[in-house]
Amino acid sequence: MIATVGMVGDVVREVSGGRVRAETLIGEGVDPHLFRPTRADIAKLLGADAVFGNGHRLEGRMGDVLERVRQSGKVVVLLAESLPREKLRANPDYPDAADPHVWMDPALWSEAAGAAEAALGRLVPESREVFAGNLARFRERLARLDAYAKEAIATVPDNARVLVTAHDAFAYFGARYGLEVESIQGLSTEAEANLAAIEELVGKLVRQRVPAVFAETSVPDRAVRALIEGAAARGHQVALGGNLFSDAMGRPGTYEGTYEGMIDHNVTTIVRALGGQAPARGLNGRLSS
Ligand code: ZN
Repeated sequence: MIATVGMVGDVVREVSGGRVRAETLIGEGVDPHLFRPTRADIAKLLGADAVFGNGHRLEGRMGDVLERVRQSGKVVVLLAESLPREKLRANPDYPDAADPHVWMDPALWSEAAGAAEAALGRLVPESREVFAGNLARFRERLARLDAYAKEAIATVPDNARVLVTAHDAFAYFGARYGLEVESIQGLSTEAEANLAAIEELVGKLVRQRVPAVFAETSVPDRAVRALIEGAAARGHQVALGGNLFSDAMGRPGTYEGTYEGMIDHNVTTIVRALGGQAPARGLNGRLSS
């Protein structure tokens, strides 16, 4: 089986408990919006028994291939598209799709994991009960992660409750935890950042004395550095708060290379950089320092 992005591959791994091997196509630090499948990737997708993805145009340039896989009669499960539309946010770039960055809200992602469990149960019926138990335990951990995020983010001072990132991946996160979200680029990374947007954001950073802005591991940090320089030119020191995992997870085999570790890293990094309180090594004491 194939998973498009790491966050989806992690759900398959958790729910199947390793009984099913899902290879992830789009790896660490790679931007799924821009990812172009190679000939070999396309062959893998067409040859897989099942493909798990996110959908809502996250895998922008893979959409046609996923459609071809589906038409060939294979199972294609798109986790974000399994959720009721009214729970999702609008996508101004594509009226036919929702904002794809659903994994940023652990409660929504927990719900979306149900679609993976249902599909795995159909594919491997003899393991259905095991998958149900794994899903329940995974959901418990995500509920704990969600509670940690809520509690830690609540400690960020009012003026600093602004999450500034390179592209607009954090709307679900901001809505869930009460942070205003600002970004230089839109929902997709396809369009260039514009200078007017940077100027406007610099103004906000200076006015509110926001202490930090954030880069993303899958997006170049040029525009974020422009914000820091812009604020410095106006007499306000803004720190680079760290590298967040937006559309890709950390290195495979590390805690940050799991969905749980990715969100723990983001929450902990954001809270500490914005002046709130969170343990340096995060919820589970497993973040690398
Ligand atoms: Zn994105």
